[in-house]
Amino acid sequence: MNAGNAAGRKAPVYSLVIPIFNEEAVLPLLVRRINALLDKLDDSAEAIFVDDGSRDTSVIFLRGMAASDPRFRLIELSRNFGHQIAITAGMDAAAGDAVVVMDADLQDPPEVVLDLVAKWKEGYEIVYARRTKREGETLFKRVSASLFYRALEQMTSVTIPRDVGDFRLVGRKALDTFKQMPERDRFVRGMFGWMGFKQTAVSFERPERAAGETKYPFWKMVRLAVHGVIGFSDKPLRLALWAGLAVSGFAALLGVFALFSWLFASGIVHGWTSTVVIISFLSGINLFMTGIVGLYVGGIHAEVKRRPLYVIDRLTGFEEAVNMAAE
Ligand code: UDP
Ligand code: MG
Repeated sequence: MNAGNAAGRKAPVYSLVIPIFNEEAVLPLLVRRINALLDKLDDSAEAIFVDDGSRDTSVIFLRGMAASDPRFRLIELSRNFGHQIAITAGMDAAAGDAVVVMDADLQDPPEVVLDLVAKWKEGYEIVYARRTKREGETLFKRVSASLFYRALEQMTSVTIPRDVGDFRLVGRKALDTFKQMPERDRFVRGMFGWMGFKQTAVSFERPERAAGETKYPFWKMVRLAVHGVIGFSDKPLRLALWAGLAVSGFAALLGVFALFSWLFASGIVHGWTSTVVIISFLSGINLFMTGIVGLYVGGIHAEVKRRPLYVIDRLTGFEEAVNMAAE
């Protein structure tokens, strides 16, 4: 499991994990900044790039890097598995005592890693990088992110820190705990919130993407948000219960009203409008609630299949075949 040790070499102290999905535009700059960071770190380090099924020239570039520089390693996944899984693959392979996950687009500035490391040395097991300012992100993204985290906080018993993405440093204990969490439905920031340990945050100003375009279009963001809620809260299921109760109460009142009008009023055949409104309203609620239940059932379905989380196509720069099976 421990790549460096397996080869009889001393494992590095620091591992960087960087997921890559079609990042050719930013790679040369990224590698330069990572190199500078590796030089500045006070101990041995490795940089693990995880190619998440890129369809551009990213892989060619990274293979070259990993083959020529012993500090660089490359994991190529067999297809696009998504950001959260790519991060997991990288962390599974990381041999360091402290592992830092960061985005490839330099929105997580490599220099901040030095601050994270300083906190880790003070004894914190998990150090988050908190965004104080977000440049170049649309108002919509900022507002929706903020609303989402507020809602999630209300719905779960797990504290997921505000304004924190996946840019963080985790120590060995946290990493080993993470590896024991086999869930398919991965909302990595929530998983680290769940496990406890001594945690703290370091603030930084989030710059714009250095080059290229976001790999998180609107629907991917929505999906991540839904996974976050479903994975960490059963409140939506209970919502079905309460909504069901409320609607039944309303229906009972309506029934009483109907009975009275039948008893005491004469000639009441109209009421077509109210019937249509009520029926369509109820079918709407029904479908919505079935959908929510479906989300959880789908989650269970995905879990019971027990497939590996990801498939590795090729490794470059690892001393020997690393035992990185997802299970
Ligand atoms: N990414 C990935 N797989 C995906 C989508 C994104 O590995 O399916 C990587 C991407 O290359 C980047 C990081 O995840 O390193 C964050 O993506 P991005 O910067 O596009 O997200 P944003 O900052 O816009 O939320
Ligand atoms: Mg980004």
